[in-house]
Amino acid sequence: MTGSVTVISGPTAVGKGTVVKRLKAEHPDVWVSVSVTTRPPRPLEVDGVDYHFVTDEQFDELIATDGLLEWAEVHGAHRYGTPAAPVERAVAAGRTVILEIDLQGALQVREHLPGCRLVFLAPPSWDALVERLVGRGTESHEMQQRRLETAKGELAAAEAFDAVVVNDEIPQTVERLVGLLGL
Ligand code: 5GP
Repeated sequence: MTGSVTVISGPTAVGKGTVVKRLKAEHPDVWVSVSVTTRPPRPLEVDGVDYHFVTDEQFDELIATDGLLEWAEVHGAHRYGTPAAPVERAVAAGRTVILEIDLQGALQVREHLPGCRLVFLAPPSWDALVERLVGRGTESHEMQQRRLETAKGELAAAEAFDAVVVNDEIPQTVERLVGLLGL
């Protein structure tokens, strides 16, 4: 029995993390990949739960040993990647696998796993996106500007995805994802 892989992607601050956490809370049977990153942890983030926080050297080692299903440098700042082995094990075990990753990563996963499904989470509007990014206050002004710059290009990429879900109200977004995943 093999499971399905769904990639949930979208521009910065669109609410991917919140939506995936909610989906997981409602459907504990879905298996959500924990990424590796060279970004330092934010307050309240837990190593091994939110991310595996690694050094640049450890990340290089993972790339060199083919340990990552995909990886990307996001917002020109830090590297993020999906450990390959846990995803392979979860698929082999028949699980519904979710990857919450950036757009560059999503397109790499499609190349490696042609049967996967790419879902683009879109903001209701550009202003809503800016408001969310500034409102959550986790990035410096410079980093906010950089993320918004990336987001402009990312919004244009929605058409390469299998489905677009507008993240207006979180419960409705989760409901639509549940429908797409056939849960
Ligand atoms: P944050 O630093 O806010 O946690 O995440 C920044 C961006 O990195 C988000 O767009 C998130 O989806 C993306 N990201 C998280 N994990 C991965 C991953 O494993 N691979 C890729 N390509 N992007 C990721």
